Amino acid sequence: MSRKPHIVILATGGTIAGSAAAETGGAYTSGKIGVDDLLSVIPEIRNLADISGEQIASIGSQDMDESIWLPMVKRCNELLARDDIDGLVITHGTDTMEETAFFLHLTVRSSKPVVVTGAMRPANAHSADGPMNLFEAVATAMAPESHGRGVMVVTNDTVFGARDVTKSCTTAIHTFQAPNFGPLGHIHAQHVEFQRKPQRKHTTESEFHVDNLNELPKVGIAFAHAGGDSAIAVNAFIDHNYDGIIHAGFGNGNFNHKVGDALQRAARQGVTVIRASRALSGAVTEAGEVDDESYGFVASGLLNPQKARILLQLILTMTRDRQHIRAFFKAY
Ligand code: GLU
Repeated sequence: MSRKPHIVILATGGTIAGSAAAETGGAYTSGKIGVDDLLSVIPEIRNLADISGEQIASIGSQDMDESIWLPMVKRCNELLARDDIDGLVITHGTDTMEETAFFLHLTVRSSKPVVVTGAMRPANAHSADGPMNLFEAVATAMAPESHGRGVMVVTNDTVFGARDVTKSCTTAIHTFQAPNFGPLGHIHAQHVEFQRKPQRKHTTESEFHVDNLNELPKVGIAFAHAGGDSAIAVNAFIDHNYDGIIHAGFGNGNFNHKVGDALQRAARQGVTVIRASRALSGAVTEAGEVDDESYGFVASGLLNPQKARILLQLILTMTRDRQHIRAFFKAY
């Protein structure tokens, strides 16, 4: 390439754009600092690439939802279709970063790199992690080796796949982990070294079309605990006409008998029921204690509840047939 790579930064807010009241304090407001100010603390970034920026939201990512995701992926696809743009970086709060990354992983239509990054410490804290994360996100987005790896999350010198990554710690800068398979690669001195590629379908192989949608099907998550009655949540979802329910069950997607009855009632009424797990790692398998065929449920495999929810929302735009849904959960 004779010209410098052109990377577009789409800013959404989060702690990377957060402003603390004191440089050592924990209290701050996320989403306050714009994309130009973020870039001004790392002028070296412009030696790597030509950068342009767009502010598409200014929120703490706890407020992220489909009203931002749907226009965001449209904008990503418009930008990625341009010959003069080589990759995208999305700055984002860490709370729901894994969900935005997975949504984009399933809906972006390009093999060009899309990298989501953020920070655990506000922009004006001592040892703020945002500037280095942004620098490394740009380095990853411009690397030829990054093509075809789906949407990635870059923080703390590490590149994660959108399907695998989860926020594992409330406050530490090494919060992002991929508990089942580990990272896709690492970054050192602006050089990205990859170890592997995602195996499941994503981006250019994805069958999900959201361009003409203004909303997604309604899918809720009910959470299991000892002595608990998540049947109350399940019944509320049924009563509020939800299209799907993810049950964040015990261990291999197990539930107590009260919840089992409510979930079966949901399935009989045409609400899709996915068995996921509150455990941090491992797959919810079909051959465990629960016979999904007789209950009318689908197992989530390795997707955690919040990611199973996003995949189901997208699947329900195409089909409500349980065997098709099951096949999608094995393919994506
Ligand atoms: N609530 C903030 C957010 O997700 C905090 C997390 C962060 O960015 O570190 O936007």
